[in-house]
Amino acid sequence: MNAPAAPPSAGIYIHLPFCPYICPYCDFAKWAWDDAGAERYLAALRAELADAPPVRARTLFFGGGTPSLYTPDVIASLIAGVRARFALPDDAEVTVEANPDPSLAARIPGLRAAGVNRLSVGVQSFDPRELHVLGRRHTAHDVANAVRAARDAGFDNLSVDLIFGAPGQTEASWRASLDAAVALGVEHISCYGLTIEEGTPYATWFARDPSAFADEGREAALYALALAKLRAAGFEQYEISNWARPGYRSRHNALYWANAPYLGLGVGAATYLDGVRSTHTRDLDAYIEAALARRPIPGESERLGGAVQLGEAIMLALRTAEGVDLGAFRERYGVDVSERYRSVVDDLVEGGVLEAGAGYVRLTERGRFVANDVCGAFLAD
Ligand code: SF4
Repeated sequence: MNAPAAPPSAGIYIHLPFCPYICPYCDFAKWAWDDAGAERYLAALRAELADAPPVRARTLFFGGGTPSLYTPDVIASLIAGVRARFALPDDAEVTVEANPDPSLAARIPGLRAAGVNRLSVGVQSFDPRELHVLGRRHTAHDVANAVRAARDAGFDNLSVDLIFGAPGQTEASWRASLDAAVALGVEHISCYGLTIEEGTPYATWFARDPSAFADEGREAALYALALAKLRAAGFEQYEISNWARPGYRSRHNALYWANAPYLGLGVGAATYLDGVRSTHTRDLDAYIEAALARRPIPGESERLGGAVQLGEAIMLALRTAEGVDLGAFRERYGVDVSERYRSVVDDLVEGGVLEAGAGYVRLTERGRFVANDVCGAFLAD
């Protein structure tokens, strides 16, 4: 008789969708906080956790929304639930996304005591006018307080998110935000270009006045500034939008780029297990009702195979500094990338956006500016 297969090891993602206010550019699954809704959601999440498929947890990531709005006790109980259900190792990376509003600093010691060992703080900008345009209600002072509180509480792994391309942003103000982020002494910085998402107030604004937003050339100039500044400050760019001090790459996000399994819990959350990618509904009531009734969560799922699976795996790997490890890829997928995608690789190398070396293909620095197009070429093939 065969021994039962060991459950796959996976990153665990928990979506906590409530926010203190709603930012006009945001397209995440999120709702303004209300006590009753947040309580009901928690009950649904606990039910889903109890019914989730068996995996061995490698990392745990609370994303949102604004997870830091839940009390540290709630976060502690969810971590305990994940430890009990998925054998999360004691030394696993446990990240909470936090909004640096004035109430955050007081919650930080509780988050540390709860077992959180990495905070990812949604700073976005240090410029008061940009923060206002982005609809954010914190100040640079709040951010400094939060970082100080985190250090005092023993956090040694802090990340901040920044946005470039906000209306009204100049190269000087972006440079100042990068400098301020570096000056905080954090271990990790993410820089995301602003994207206009359909259905958001920003999409309406963009339709009315596209000139208010950075065009491609301007975005490229701002991105180039991030590359230069963060490199000079000793950060390693290990992914298109992510920079880290040595030893501080996000272990959880690394699983996504390695096309490794992950299990997502909560409204709108995505899971990738046994070659099937599924995404929960973004309808909050539908999610809560199904989870509380212990019914399957509505949503979509597809088995990834063939060209789609290969294209996605290449696309994800190309986002990283190391690119595609050809030997590892052959072993895992049975495909020689330089053979199967010979003409795509040749064209991109010729165009100066891809570099093919002994055992790898990866983006050149120029390729990072047009990463979506480069990656898309493998999906289309
Ligand atoms: S950007 Fe963050 S804080 Fe703002 S609405 Fe979206 S999830 Fe909430």
